[in-house]
Amino acid sequence: MKEDLLLEEVIKDFKWLHENPELAYQEYKTTEYIKEQLKKENVTIIDVPLETGLVAQVKGSQDGPVIALRCDIDALPIEEESGLSYSSKKPGLMHACGHDFHTAVMLGVAKVLNLHKEELKGTVKIIFQPAEEAPGGAYKIIETPVLDDVKLIWGIHTAPGIPVGTFAISEGAVMAAVDRFEIRVHGTGTHAAHPEEGIDPIVVMSAIVQSVQTIVSRNMNPFHSTLVSITRIESGNTWNVIPEKGFMEGTVRTLDALDRKQIQTRLSDLVNGIARSYGAEAELTWYAGPPAVYNEAPLCEFAREVAVKLGAKVSEVEKSLGGEDFSLYQETIPGAYLKIGTGGVHPIHHPAFIADPEALVPTVKYIVELAKESLNRYK
Ligand SMILES: [Zn+2]
Ligand SMILES: [Zn+2]
Repeated sequence: MKEDLLLEEVIKDFKWLHENPELAYQEYKTTEYIKEQLKKENVTIIDVPLETGLVAQVKGSQDGPVIALRCDIDALPIEEESGLSYSSKKPGLMHACGHDFHTAVMLGVAKVLNLHKEELKGTVKIIFQPAEEAPGGAYKIIETPVLDDVKLIWGIHTAPGIPVGTFAISEGAVMAAVDRFEIRVHGTGTHAAHPEEGIDPIVVMSAIVQSVQTIVSRNMNPFHSTLVSITRIESGNTWNVIPEKGFMEGTVRTLDALDRKQIQTRLSDLVNGIARSYGAEAELTWYAGPPAVYNEAPLCEFAREVAVKLGAKVSEVEKSLGGEDFSLYQETIPGAYLKIGTGGVHPIHHPAFIADPEALVPTVKYIVELAKESLNRYK
């Protein structure tokens, strides 16, 4: 198929994907659809044992490095309220993070690169990653041997509020390390009328909730973005009994590895110290999530150059304390994460989120050029 027709297909693919969202680890129909579209254009699919998601490959006819492009394919448990003619056909499910946009773009990129493989000096692997919204999606790809020879990786994400035709590229940490914690407080239950005979875990927990906010305000550098949120508290089951124990959980978001470590230590000291001072005991359980997404300056400079050469606009990324498991690839492979202006007024994960389809073709053209130039530059 000619390039113009392939580009028209990107819009059709995007609308199909938008109408047919699937949750993390359940992207069976999505995977099937991607496979069919790639097979129609004779794009190679690498044989790796993935339940959902897949990896395609375009091997150029000339020798050169291997680079990777990564998109994610899963949707969210949100009831769509966008009013689009191609809204979700599945009640309670929606592509509200633009992963349908990413997938359609990478399908287009794979097909266009395949059409021009005579000119390619190296190999491009296109990763259709499952389950970005749930823990572990990136590991499904990392556990396969598919990245072993990859020298460089690019990731993309929709950016609502940034106009179509603008690519937002910033160096440094652009998305946060996302950690989760649980706190269990053990006191002594008693009659509500005899508090002197017990140790009230609710009072201990209240003190902990108040104190952990001082980590950000008193222990962190005020110029660093950090966050501690306690998002759930459970204790007791009636009005006239002081309960024996309580449970809390929450999240810590950081852009800097040292801040991340320091918050964990401080949280542990506060939780244990406060509990002890009330005669109670507490346990902190820490679940480390993906680290921060960090873009090296030279890669950003290069990505901006390519965009400008195509006549696109470039802008800065607004840093976010949201997380993104693209950082797991960056632990072993140099890579950068680029935001694509997709217009609209609602943020990602909003029921009325819209990624403007006008942004599809310019993004495909940009990523194709970025991939070609990466092969020339990162030999
Ligand atoms: Zn998301
Ligand atoms: Zn997303």
